[in-house]
Amino acid sequence: MTQHADSTEKDVRQYRKIIQLTFTPENSNKPVMCHVVRRYDVTYNIVAAQTTAGKEGYLTVELWGEDAKCRAALDYLREQGIIVAAAKQHVSRLDDTCMHCGMCLALCPVDALTIEGGSRLVIFNEEECTACGMCTRICPVGAMQADTVMGRTASGVV
Ligand code: SF4
Ligand code: SF4
Repeated sequence: MTQHADSTEKDVRQYRKIIQLTFTPENSNKPVMCHVVRRYDVTYNIVAAQTTAGKEGYLTVELWGEDAKCRAALDYLREQGIIVAAAKQHVSRLDDTCMHCGMCLALCPVDALTIEGGSRLVIFNEEECTACGMCTRICPVGAMQADTVMGRTASGVV
């Protein structure tokens, strides 16, 4: 479901991130996302939602628009008592799709992608992967796949 605010895309810095919002019982029934769209001219798409009446609720959304407006919208959400954090991802590899070109190796900050000496095949060590998503942006055949999962990253920085 995409919530869209009509806006003319200008040649200004843009923002596009998947974030997790954690609501408390006190703020879970406030129409904050409607306000975010109206006041800050941003667009969001709901990726996942988990709510229980009278308890904490979680909403994972992809948020995009002008950088300054998105950041102002996130500040507004924080002012409402909502915890705003980067959403957690899980990265996996489609082994049958990978053609072992090695383009992803240089980007991986934690050496989760390495070349096996003898075979020259690219090995993906899922245990080491921090799901930063860098490799998913460069892989020419889409072998590295990022899925958003419920939860927030350790740093939470958005
Ligand atoms: S998601 Fe990040 S840490 Fe994981 S393999 Fe890709 S580049 Fe390395
Ligand atoms: S960039 Fe993609 S195809 Fe190339 S080695 Fe990495 S995962 Fe495989």
